[in-house]
Amino acid sequence: MDYLAFSKEQLLDVISDLTMLNEQLLFESNQETKLNYSWSGNLGHWYWSIKSNKVTFNPLKITTLGFSEDEVPSNVTYQVFTDRIHPDDYQTTMDAMLAHLYGKALVYEAEYRIRCKDGEYRWYYDRGRITRRDPKGKPLFLAGIVFDITDRKARQIELERINLELSEKTMTDELTQLKNQRALIEHLKNEIERAHGSKEKLSVLMLDIDDFKKINDRHGHVVGDTVLADVAAIISRSIRSKDMAGRYGGEEFMVIFPDADANIAAGIADRILKSVEAFSFQENVRVTLSGGVGEYSTESVPELIDKADKNLYEAKRSGKNRVIG
Ligand code: GH3
Ligand code: MG
Ligand code: MG
Repeated sequence: MDYLAFSKEQLLDVISDLTMLNEQLLFESNQETKLNYSWSGNLGHWYWSIKSNKVTFNPLKITTLGFSEDEVPSNVTYQVFTDRIHPDDYQTTMDAMLAHLYGKALVYEAEYRIRCKDGEYRWYYDRGRITRRDPKGKPLFLAGIVFDITDRKARQIELERINLELSEKTMTDELTQLKNQRALIEHLKNEIERAHGSKEKLSVLMLDIDDFKKINDRHGHVVGDTVLADVAAIISRSIRSKDMAGRYGGEEFMVIFPDADANIAAGIADRILKSVEAFSFQENVRVTLSGGVGEYSTESVPELIDKADKNLYEAKRSGKNRVIG
C-alpha cells in the first residue's frame, strides 16, 4: 500500500484500525495462551517492537507484581520491566537478550527476580524470539512468553540449601566440627594437583595428642571428648584462613597448608602446640601434642601423608610435645 499518498486523516484511520486489530489479536492470543499453556505460572505473551520500543503484554504480567491494570498503560517501553529486575540478575538477563539479538542464541531465555510494587521480588521465566526482521535482517519485532516461577524457585532454593547442608554434614566431624578424613583427603588431592608442576609450596601437618589413652583412663571418655573438641578449636584459631584443618581420626588431626614450605608449616604447628600447652582444660588435664610436617615435592596423597607421619613418629620417639618437619 502506498501510504505516502494518504492524507493525515487517512493515516490516522489506518493507525486506529491497526491499533484495534492489535488489541483484539492480543486479547485473543492471551485467551489462547491460557488454553495452550494452562499450567501454573503462565502470565501470557509479550510483544516488543524494537524501533518504537513499545512493549505490549498480557496485563497479568503487571498485575502479578501488585499493580492494577490502569496503573500501567498497556503500551510501555521495555525499561518498565527491566528497571524492576533484581540487580544480581540484570546483567545475565540483558546478556541473554543481546545474545539473541546479535544471533548468538536461537532464543532469548532468562530467569530473573522482578520487583513487585511492595518491594518484594518474584521470579519470572522469560522466553522469546525475533519474529520479524527488516530486509537487511535487522530485528524489528520480538514475541515472547513469561511465567511466574516464584513457587518453583522457592522449592529449588530450599532443595539446594538442604543439599549443601547434607554435603557439609558428610564432610564434617560431628564431635569437633572440623572437616573429616574424607574432606581432608579430597582437599589434599586438589591441592596436590594445584601445586604439581607449579612453584607454589604445599605442606601437611599431622598432629597427635600425647598419651591420650591415659587422659581417657584417668578422666573418662567424656572429658576426653571435651579435650578433643578444645584442641580442635585451638587448631582452628591458630591457622591461616587458606589452611584447612580436620580430624584425621581418633586423636589425630591434619592441617593442609597451601603456599607454605615445611618451615612455615612447622612455625604454625609450634604456635598450636604452645597454645594447647597453655590452655586450661577441664579438670586441669595437661594436654600436649606431637606433630610431623611433610613438604610436597612430587608425592601422591598417601605418600605425602606418610612423609608427615614419619616425622610425627620421630617426634613421639624423641620425647613428644614437639614438631619435626
Ligand atoms: P601417643 O602419645 O603415642 O599418641 O599415645 P596415645 O595414648 O595418645 O595413643 P594410643 O593410640 O595408644 O591411644 C589413642 C586413644 O585415643 C585410644 C582411644 O580410645 C582414644 N580415642 C580415639 N578416639 C576417641 C574419641 O572420639 N573420644 C575419646 N574420648 N577417646 C578417643
Ligand atoms: Mg594416635
Ligand atoms: Mg596419641
